[in-house]
Amino acid sequence: MPSGATHDRITLISLPIVTGLTLLASRSASITLSLAGSFLFSGLMFGPDLDIYSVQFKRWGILRWIWRPYQKSMRHRSWLSHGPVIGTLIRLAYLGCWVAIGIALWNGVAMLNHGAFWSWHSTQPQIQSFALQYFWQGIAILAGLELGALSHSWSDVIGSTWKKWRKPRRKGRP
Ligand SMILES: [Zn+2]
Repeated sequence: MPSGATHDRITLISLPIVTGLTLLASRSASITLSLAGSFLFSGLMFGPDLDIYSVQFKRWGILRWIWRPYQKSMRHRSWLSHGPVIGTLIRLAYLGCWVAIGIALWNGVAMLNHGAFWSWHSTQPQIQSFALQYFWQGIAILAGLELGALSHSWSDVIGSTWKKWRKPRRKGRP
């Protein structure tokens, strides 16, 4: 399995290719920026290796503790963290739970201090029009997150296959 530094290198080397291909296909700067940005984020700190004490995990800094329960409930390199699509979906849902907890806490503090709080109903129209306006950018972000995770999982598989293939040859040497 490649090291964290190798995974970083793969992400950084792939970035211009992913960016160029997206720009060519979409002819849109905002879609390209959304996909390239999320690809970089996924490769460097939102990838499958959040299931262990990894560089990706350490990059969350003071917020890294939010990934502890995820690590505890996930076997390293299981299909739930390293599987295509499912890995990214679970991480997104997991992070979404923390964001929801953060909003709930924020609301609690705002209510105690000002007697006012954010409610889904009051901002629903704005959120809906925002989602419609930036629909394709949203899709690009999801695609970038998945591509970043896939580049990780594929290099894990290629790295392991390479190691297995090399072992018998090394043993065979005098
Ligand atoms: Zn991995």
